[in-house]
Amino acid sequence: MVKQHQLKVYNSLSGQKEKFVPINKEFVGMYVCGPTVYSHVHLGNVRTFMSFDMIYRYLLLLGYKVRYVRNITDVGHLLDDSDEDKIAKKARLEKVEPMEIVQKYTVDFHDVLRKFNNHPPNVEPTATGHIVEQIVITKELIEKGLAYESNGSVYFDVKKYNEKGGNYGELSNRNIEDLMANTRTLDGQDEKRNPQDFALWKKALPDHIMRWPSPWGEGFPGWHLECTVMSTKYLGEQFDIHGGGMDLKFPHHECEIAQAKGAYGQEPVKYWLHANMLTLNGQKMSKSTGNTILPEELLSGNNSFFDKGFSPMVIRFFMMQAHYRSILDFSNEAILASEKGYTRLMEAYKTIPSIEPNATSTFDVKAFETKLYEAMDDDFNTPILIAHLFDAVKIINSLKEGTETLNTEDLALLQKIMNDFVVKVLGLKEEETSSDSTHKLDGVLQMLIEMRNQARVDKNWTLSDQIRDELSSLGIQLKDSKDGTTYQF
Ligand SMILES: [Zn+2]
Repeated sequence: MVKQHQLKVYNSLSGQKEKFVPINKEFVGMYVCGPTVYSHVHLGNVRTFMSFDMIYRYLLLLGYKVRYVRNITDVGHLLDDSDEDKIAKKARLEKVEPMEIVQKYTVDFHDVLRKFNNHPPNVEPTATGHIVEQIVITKELIEKGLAYESNGSVYFDVKKYNEKGGNYGELSNRNIEDLMANTRTLDGQDEKRNPQDFALWKKALPDHIMRWPSPWGEGFPGWHLECTVMSTKYLGEQFDIHGGGMDLKFPHHECEIAQAKGAYGQEPVKYWLHANMLTLNGQKMSKSTGNTILPEELLSGNNSFFDKGFSPMVIRFFMMQAHYRSILDFSNEAILASEKGYTRLMEAYKTIPSIEPNATSTFDVKAFETKLYEAMDDDFNTPILIAHLFDAVKIINSLKEGTETLNTEDLALLQKIMNDFVVKVLGLKEEETSSDSTHKLDGVLQMLIEMRNQARVDKNWTLSDQIRDELSSLGIQLKDSKDGTTYQF
């Protein structure tokens, strides 16, 4: 049974918050554009996937049966139609098979998302597993006069699409005439009738490794096509939610709409949801400027931006403190503040079972629960939700002190709703914080560092080397400097 709630979601297509009414009553189909697995997943992507994980979790809490599909792009991600496939390029540079690149970074992607406690999707299809379907839809688009072959490649004809009633640019509020006037012709684009036309199928040059036979010769699919094929295959020609990062709105999602509308003659997606990006110390993250950090570096503390490493749950809590459609800035002070907040919240949550019930309740738990739902019903407003949860922390502390009281029933309800929102919706779980074993481990390592220093004073090189080497074999590196010795995992 779906709870009677009026969830509203911000639909990028209408630019408004709309009542969420799924196509099939209690079932929700949600598709999220997954990663292109040619390098480590970056932090901005982690935020996007975490945002949709939170959305997925809230839909489940409301009682919906959700089919969550998130793809793996393992071929065909071109920056533009003249560029080389990102995976093939990396494989060429590293002198390995493209599928080795795919395997390595798919495993890495799953590991990272698991650390941040993301639920896996229900279906995780790959582009290479759906080549046949991509060829079929390309043929259909050609038959409908919306795509054309040119020198072994097939392009979607944006102008024809608009002439036949399409509205290319509707999602990103772009005007097709402006787009055409402002696009310079890039190398290799003379195959196209118009610069805005995009590749459905690309001819493989003789040295291109990833290639499949097709009616147009050997080639590989364009990136936009796989999402249309896989979303509609697993969710139907019309489905409820399509998500992704803000940067995918154009051209990727715009092209998806055009392809699906062109092939199936109807609006493919009811609600388009887009998660915003991350900045680092107030600036856009970018590999070229060096203002970037990998999730792993953020966790280990092995980076030049932060004083120390942070646990995955602190990072998750930090990300949840911003609304998914707002830009979130990573800075040392902000994460340190979140670390304190996370600890305070979890400590309070842990103490609920030890609170003794009273004959009377001085606090309205039901009204409090309503507030939490209202926050989430308002386009998944996690910052407001968290503000309410901190009110609960105050209440829990007062309950412990005895200045507020709850009867047995209300206390059980408080426990349940804290579990619903802290654990199920925000996806937070208890971690061993610095007060537990991390603290003890630090003590042990400081002791070993002192023993090694003493050994070096005593010129007992065998012992000092043994300490360093054995720690190293456990993945703990000692670093000597003029200020003393530190360690790093
Ligand atoms: Zn996609």
